[in-house]
Amino acid sequence: MSICTNCGNEIPNQRLDLFPETNLCSAKCIENIIENEKNVHIDAAPPAPTGEKATCSRCKSRLEVRKGPTGWFLGCTRYPMCKATKQL
Ligand SMILES: [Zn+2]
Ligand SMILES: [Zn+2]
Repeated sequence: MSICTNCGNEIPNQRLDLFPETNLCSAKCIENIIENEKNVHIDAAPPAPTGEKATCSRCKSRLEVRKGPTGWFLGCTRYPMCKATKQL
């Protein structure tokens, strides 16, 4: 017996055959999960800083807002020549 990861309901056996690679009970629950993932991806970039905070401490180039595995950070626009980064 499996539990739907979206709504927590038991997944009927015939559903398991329909969506063998998911732990979701219905097409509606699959849509719901896809919708949630979309929302994570639209996660807007924070406003770019200005002035000294937007200047690379190593090469004095501009820093730009980038997204890494742990979230948003400032990276040098000369990357990969300059790998300096700053916390936002
Ligand atoms: Zn469900
Ligand atoms: Zn730099």
